Amino acid sequence: MSTVDADTPEAPQHPHAETVEEFRAAIAAVRAKMAAAAQRAGRDESEIRLLPVSKTVPEPRLRVAIEAGCHQLGENKVQEAKRKAENLADLNVDWSLIGHLQTNKAKDVARFASEFQALDSLRAAEALDRRLQAAGRSLDVFVQVNTSAEDQKYGLAPDDVVGFLRELPKFETLRVQGLMTLALFTPDTERVRACFVLLRNLRDRVRDTDPDLIGPGELSMGMSGDYEVAIEEGSTCVRVGQAIFGARSYPDSYYWPPQRPSGEV
Ligand SMILES: *Cc1c(COP(=O)(O)O)cnc(C)c1O
Repeated sequence: MSTVDADTPEAPQHPHAETVEEFRAAIAAVRAKMAAAAQRAGRDESEIRLLPVSKTVPEPRLRVAIEAGCHQLGENKVQEAKRKAENLADLNVDWSLIGHLQTNKAKDVARFASEFQALDSLRAAEALDRRLQAAGRSLDVFVQVNTSAEDQKYGLAPDDVVGFLRELPKFETLRVQGLMTLALFTPDTERVRACFVLLRNLRDRVRDTDPDLIGPGELSMGMSGDYEVAIEEGSTCVRVGQAIFGARSYPDSYYWPPQRPSGEV
């Protein structure tokens, strides 16, 4: 496999797949680690979905990845996802939106997305429901929870989740599938694990008190750097980009709001 960004530290861990065979190998490597993590936790690997995250990857490479078996792709930004959905409309792909939604983009999401994993406001729920009603569609949604207590990240505070879920049944086009989170970005595995445990405990509590509100109770958690830990803690959907597509050259701040400049309060 060829590697790009050879000067970035992640490059050796994340080969840059180009051909169908290379994509198949990268996916198989991730699936093998998923299976091992599931086995360590005494879980059945078939209950864990691998969602390949294709942000920043241009359409010609996506065609190859789709040929290699990626029929569901995760994108963080609506504009980018919309462009790709249009350019790849001849192929069989379901698009999953996994990033924050600005309500003025709800119309686009209602048109082409099959899933939205970052629901964290009633405004977004209202906007989506209105657009979905108009389009005669429904949408699988995950409620995003901020399990890392970092104020620069999206997601509801854990204490607000039950109240939020209780508001959702009135949006008939939204089918709640479960909860989603991003763990703390740190090499300290135990602090990462604590985020995943928090999400699982929250799901379990809702299942006890309000089982009708959480659908199948899925847990979307785990990315390239932490999906094995997430599976050990109960993840049912891992969102994996770089381990399949190679290291990204964009900084993560392009996708997540940057930290406040120092001095700002
Ligand atoms: C980019 C992204 C991922 C995947 O991250 P990788 O490091 O590429 O695996 C997962 N979840 C969200 C919300 C993302 O934006």
